[in-house]
Amino acid sequence: SDIGSQKERVVTEEEWLQKWEMGNIGFHKEQGHPLLQKYLDVLLNGRSGLRIFFPLCGKAVEMKWLADMGHSVVGVEVSEQAVKEFFSEHSLPYCEEPVPEISGAKMFQSTSGNISLYCCSIYDLSSSIVGKFDGVWDRGALVAVNPCDRQRYASLMISLVEKNSSYLLVTVSYDPNKHNGPPFYVPESEIKSLFG
Ligand code: SAH
Repeated sequence: SDIGSQKERVVTEEEWLQKWEMGNIGFHKEQGHPLLQKYLDVLLNGRSGLRIFFPLCGKAVEMKWLADMGHSVVGVEVSEQAVKEFFSEHSLPYCEEPVPEISGAKMFQSTSGNISLYCCSIYDLSSSIVGKFDGVWDRGALVAVNPCDRQRYASLMISLVEKNSSYLLVTVSYDPNKHNGPPFYVPESEIKSLFG
């Protein structure tokens, strides 16, 4: 499992913001992800009223699905455009407030209170700010993180989950010498060493 030239690739926050501005968001799935439907039982494990985290959330429609099922959803996304599009495309009223612990960050919360999206870098978060989660939907997140930041990302994610949590991770399998990414190729052996 050689990740080849991808090891050195860096996509800056500015480049992500540009993708949103230009509408280069081929990763967004209008209809939601079939793998969440397929593995929903694994995520929930018979539990209700969970706190579910969406790292690097974009405007993933799955956040609406889970909130509608009675769970409490927290996401983090650098693009304010993405966050605002999420609420407007689902006709959800929201309010916006600063996050005292993180300079420049804002938190957008649905008026009903069950969806909270932090607009900042995920690396600014900690469990003292967002608490801990019972479940994680990691799609387009680990695979979007710069390869040099994977260890930091995984350690942070581990610090954000409760002991009895479920973590659904979607990766993509392809020859990393043929495409630049993102999404980056993350070999299974690396996932095992990152998350233990
Ligand atoms: N998970 C979403 C979006 C995947 S694309 C989905 O399934 O549709 C990755 C997203 O992460 C982009 O929207 C990008 O703007 C955001 N992003 C990139 N780096 C980030 C960071 N450090 N912190 C928070 N969000 C980030």
